Amino acid sequence: MAEAVKELWPEVRLGIGPAIEDGFYYDFDKKEPFSDEDLVNIERKMREIISKNEPFTREELGKEEALKLFARMGEDYKLDLIRALVDTKITIYKTGKDFIDLCRGPHVGSTGEIKAFKLLSVAGAYWHGIETNPMLQRIYGTCFLTQKELDDYLKNLEEAKKRDHRKLGPQLEFFDIYHEEAGAGLVFYHPKGALLRTLIEDYEKKEHLKRGYQIVITPHIMQAGLWKTSGHYDYYKENMYTLNIDEKEYVLKPMNCPGHILIYKSKMRSYRDLPIRFFELGTVYRHEKAGVLHGLLRVRGFTQDDAHIFCLPEQLRDEIKAIIDFVFDTMKVFGFNEVGIELSTRPEKYIGSEADWQQATEALEEALKEKKLAYDINVGDGAFYGPKIDIKLKDALNRKWQCATIQCDFALPKRFNLSYIDSEGKERQPIMLHRVLLGSLERFIGALLEHYNGELPLWLAPTQALVIPIKDSLMEYALSVKKELEDNSIRAEIDDHKETLNKRIRNAEVNKIPYCLIVGEREAESKSVSVRKKGKGDAGVLTQEAFIKQIKEEIKNKVS
Ligand code: ZN
Repeated sequence: MAEAVKELWPEVRLGIGPAIEDGFYYDFDKKEPFSDEDLVNIERKMREIISKNEPFTREELGKEEALKLFARMGEDYKLDLIRALVDTKITIYKTGKDFIDLCRGPHVGSTGEIKAFKLLSVAGAYWHGIETNPMLQRIYGTCFLTQKELDDYLKNLEEAKKRDHRKLGPQLEFFDIYHEEAGAGLVFYHPKGALLRTLIEDYEKKEHLKRGYQIVITPHIMQAGLWKTSGHYDYYKENMYTLNIDEKEYVLKPMNCPGHILIYKSKMRSYRDLPIRFFELGTVYRHEKAGVLHGLLRVRGFTQDDAHIFCLPEQLRDEIKAIIDFVFDTMKVFGFNEVGIELSTRPEKYIGSEADWQQATEALEEALKEKKLAYDINVGDGAFYGPKIDIKLKDALNRKWQCATIQCDFALPKRFNLSYIDSEGKERQPIMLHRVLLGSLERFIGALLEHYNGELPLWLAPTQALVIPIKDSLMEYALSVKKELEDNSIRAEIDDHKETLNKRIRNAEVNKIPYCLIVGEREAESKSVSVRKKGKGDAGVLTQEAFIKQIKEEIKNKVS
């Protein structure tokens, strides 16, 4: 792409052009903005270059030599990059007549190996991401081995735009994210969205109690001193909101850990009490820059399904394994199957000793190995207080969503002086695990809406059955059907709009309601309903009793 751009506009200067997940981009310094037509012309030129099957040749240069070469070419940004490199040997790649680029490689052998590609969009990008630097133009593209893979990818991209939760949310009246009156990045759940969230929360509470967790609730504001002890005040301050009350500084909690620690510390704990697992649907507030706020995915206030486990060193691995099982079971229940797992190790800024970090990282890794799970390692991407496992779910369009995190922590127990009495009566320090299953409920709801394109599985659908009386005189019967459903904990509504039957069935489809129950004279006489299932059409006439039995079974089994 860069070669094509240079052939079409020789005066353009090149920035950086890395591969990214699902594609690549390149930053260009060009006066006039790239138009849609320009992208078409670049693609045409790229095809020409590909058809010539030009080889890529790699060369190694000394730093001085490389600086001279790119200075001659007038590629100032490349000079900037070379100066920042610590390597003494600089590699360049040449292709075509005279295209030369700074590149670590590796590369395909020749342009002919490139099979299917597409340029997707143009966006502004500051050099090195710094606002005082020149604004370059970034062209995004993607590339696959076969046309079929490319077509599938483009189809998913189109579909993703259609099911964007920022569109679906307000359209289906689930939520709103106001900017003007309330402030940016704050979510308002409307009745349907609040219902969905309640269903998720109820499910989670039940499952946690089943698995030996105890539910706790902690305050939203706590004094700054607590956050100094935890280290957040020093390591996380730019993300925290503070306020003054009675001339004392308070912090709006960005995390739930210190609260749970205070409950742990409230009494003497024995080794017999461990593991202790505290669970909270904890609402946290984090200051995210306005520019990165994005629908439900990046907000300033959100609720985590957060738990902290205090355990003995010898319990650590089993606890991690139990959490992994819990994550997988939960994802399955919500209809997500495929996952990607990442193990993140010690970052530059950290607390705790190197030995602790090593022990914690090993425990996480061993649990993954024992579970025979494949994972990638993210060097330096751990939290400041410990290494972590991130589990990402893949949605129907093959996109990854951050969901579960399991973090090992040797640091906070030390900072807060946590202890338990061991079997010999000595005071020892417990190990602490932080973990979320779905992560932020806001983000998870965004993922859920996009995954299902708003057509939530029956057990999560805000309205499970819509009763449609074909004429006004049947209203009484319709009401009795609705009541019978509600008495059986089935969420039902009546559509009594003065519209044709077909129009009302269509509306139910648009509103993604799983079942329509059409009632006419015959149904009223026989105490039955004419059932239509979304996406499947007419499902025959069933007695009220038979329908209720069927739908209850489907709800119980979480059939989608
Ligand atoms: Zn925590």
